[in-house]
Amino acid sequence: VSGRDWDRAVEIVSSADEIALACHISPDGDALGSTLAVGLALRAAGKRVVASFGDRRFSVPRLLRFLPGQDLLVDPARYPAAPEVMITFDVPSVERLGTLAAGTARAGRLIVLDHHPSNTGFGTLNLVDPGAAATAMLAEELIHRLGLPLSRDIATCLYVGLVTDTGSFRHSSTTPEAHAMAARLLATGVDPERIAREVWDRSPFGYLGVLGLALERARLEPEVGGGLVWTFVTRADREAHGLSYDELEGIIDVVRRTDAADVSAILKEDDDGAWQVSTRSKGGVDVSRVCAALGGGGHAKAAGFTSHLPVEETIAGLRAQL
Ligand code: 5GP
Ligand code: MN
Ligand code: MN
Repeated sequence: VSGRDWDRAVEIVSSADEIALACHISPDGDALGSTLAVGLALRAAGKRVVASFGDRRFSVPRLLRFLPGQDLLVDPARYPAAPEVMITFDVPSVERLGTLAAGTARAGRLIVLDHHPSNTGFGTLNLVDPGAAATAMLAEELIHRLGLPLSRDIATCLYVGLVTDTGSFRHSSTTPEAHAMAARLLATGVDPERIAREVWDRSPFGYLGVLGLALERARLEPEVGGGLVWTFVTRADREAHGLSYDELEGIIDVVRRTDAADVSAILKEDDDGAWQVSTRSKGGVDVSRVCAALGGGGHAKAAGFTSHLPVEETIAGLRAQL
């Protein structure tokens, strides 16, 4: 991202009174954390700010409800129809805005902050850095360039984005810059222990039951690509254990431990009966390519897509791409 583009972003944001923020549907820690961080900073600077994401059933994922700044969020039905300035976070393409996609065409100015290599550049100004570990890095830079202070609440939102997208500083995106940013955030008083507990250690007991089912069912296909391990969780599994869809986070991180598999996948049935597929790679296969071929997208080592086919057929489609 060039200095000139940052200057333009600062110009656009500084001169606006009302700013609408949006992140991708089914937001993760990076998407929502970046959005709320910038929202809190702009509101403290006296701007009128709203933020949302275009899920058809609008609901903040339970694991992210501890994030400061929830009161910035509005139901997508109440989102401004033609915002003066709109900023999107962690959104690689317009479709990932869900029901908020239409608003981008009517926005006076559209600033896109993202780190997906596949970003389509759908903004009037695109601040896209595929080298950034998280969109939270771009969000921090925007706040910094606007000359706004990093409160502990803002830093907490940014830290959640950074720690989730780097896989707790384990993924290849764990650069000196990522650690330097973590240091700046911790210096504001962010509590990493509390954040880790909120994000990873607050599952209902039913999570163990569903995890057990998923692990029991896992299949290893060592001959496919560099090895494929996959499993699935149905809506009925969740109902039996009193778990909501957004509480399924993290099962893939156990499945992917399998050494004999380069690629791992989990199919999660959502409340509409569609399969949300999460894939991970250890580097042999670019799963963003695989998932793009199946109508989704993501990063080289973490990507996803939606399938309306039964489990076996969905896996057959995946296998054919490996
Ligand atoms: P997760 O498996 O954690 O839900 O998603 C991993 C990554 O895959 C996310 O960072 C996101 O970029 C991408 N991703 C997941 N699902 C989809 C999808 O349906 N479409 C697109 N374009 N990307 C997805
Ligand atoms: Mn994301
Ligand atoms: Mn991200």
